[in-house]
Amino acid sequence: MHDIFLKIINKDIPANIIFENEYVIAFLDISPVTKGHTLVVPKKYSKNILDIENEDLVEIIKSIKYLAPIIVDSIEADGFCIKQNNGEAADQTVMHTHFHIIPRFRDDGLVAWSGNTSNPDEFIEIANKIKNNIE
Ligand code: 5GP
Repeated sequence: MHDIFLKIINKDIPANIIFENEYVIAFLDISPVTKGHTLVVPKKYSKNILDIENEDLVEIIKSIKYLAPIIVDSIEADGFCIKQNNGEAADQTVMHTHFHIIPRFRDDGLVAWSGNTSNPDEFIEIANKIKNNIE
């Protein structure tokens, strides 16, 4: 399997690594959306958030909580977004679980997704479909 992040984890290819521990590695995205755009990646392989082990997920979230304010301070950003894509339809291009920390700047012009309107019946129908599948 071609896993570019595994190559970074194994130091087979270079990356601007900013942090690593037993569970997690964090490095700058090669194609940053904003300055300081960082990827936080579990060292143990999983494809996405559905098959990652809970222990690794906890370690990832702990690392994000630790790193995000340091990144923001270091580059004098004003805030940050966390993004995590699952599946091709959701723009996942690297099939190794990862979280994006995307620093945000006032007036950075980055367009977040915008909400659509929906009618009340549709809301009820959708909520019911989901709730029916929750045990
Ligand atoms: P996805 O779209 O799968 O959520 O995000 C994958 C991210 O990995 C992209 O933002 C892309 O720029 C980044 N990326 C892909 N290949 C490399 C690489 O070789 N090195 C680094 N540092 N980032 C990469």
